[in-house]
Amino acid sequence: MSWLTPDLKPLLAVVAAVLDETGILIEANAGFLRVIKTEGQQPIGLSAAQFFRQPDFASLVAMPADADGQIHRGLLTVGHYMGLTRTLHARVWRVDGQLRVLAEYDIDELERLNDTVLELNRDYANAQMDLAQTNLKLQQREAQLVAISLIDPLTGTGNRRYLEETMAREISRAGRTGGKLCLIMADLDHFKRINDNHGHQAGDRVLEAFGALLRQQTRPTDVVTRFGGEEFVVLMPHTGLAQALVIAERIRTALAAMLIDPLPSAVTASFGVAEFAVGEKDDALLRRADQALYVAKQSGRNRVVTG
Ligand code: GH3
Ligand code: MG
Ligand code: MG
Repeated sequence: MSWLTPDLKPLLAVVAAVLDETGILIEANAGFLRVIKTEGQQPIGLSAAQFFRQPDFASLVAMPADADGQIHRGLLTVGHYMGLTRTLHARVWRVDGQLRVLAEYDIDELERLNDTVLELNRDYANAQMDLAQTNLKLQQREAQLVAISLIDPLTGTGNRRYLEETMAREISRAGRTGGKLCLIMADLDHFKRINDNHGHQAGDRVLEAFGALLRQQTRPTDVVTRFGGEEFVVLMPHTGLAQALVIAERIRTALAAMLIDPLPSAVTASFGVAEFAVGEKDDALLRRADQALYVAKQSGRNRVVTG
């Protein structure tokens, strides 16, 4: 009867083999074949001596046997020709001129490996999470930078760059859909005098107040921007000329009726209003609004003119 019982044959975590003293493999279970990696090639009947690394096969064979025929009990390193080895806990007996090898994987070692893998997995998951958070922060930072680069710090309205970006988008949309689009250009009257008479800080308060008034008097979909110095532009999608004129007039009267600390009297502004004409370029629309503003200034200020 074979020393390798049928129960032992399919086991993979247990390594069992019978060899003759020259190393010819007589029997082996699945675990042994797996370690020496000879799938496809049937190693029974061939020498398996080369797979015994530590102790090597010759040393093993030379070991003296105890009363039970046992010649080795302890670590046994077995490996295939590619160099991959497994160190197992083994017992080897010599019985009737044959070597019987029975070995198992070191459970402690396996558990340690398992723990290491778990730990590495955890580290990896943590690193992934850190990376995701850093990415999110970077994205937020980038969004902040983009926002900062488009906002006028004094008034909190969009800046000229923001206007240019929005106007390009809105003009192409209006051109595509045939929707209405108006632009108001507003310039504070005699603003230099305010600075001269009340100081630059008072001038800044007026700019802030005017920016806030423009936002308050327009819809959220309207784009309020500080175009430069004391000049503001409001871009109004879905708005026809008549409506834009009403809005500009409303802003004008609200400003003229407003007292801005620390000024003793109200400030006024002049307004140029233009409606987008299909086929018109961004700068042409701005130029027409600017020309209307110029006429408003020339004809006495504190008024709304359309071009
Ligand atoms: P007009 O009615 O013809 O528009 O006259 P104006 O005095 O308003 O126009 P002008 O272009 O002669 O002067 C604009 C002034 O706005 C000059 C500049 O010092 C001032 N200004 C520009 N930017 C700022 C700012 O950020 N803060 C303050 N306080 N003043 C500014
Ligand atoms: Mg001015
Ligand atoms: Mg000006």
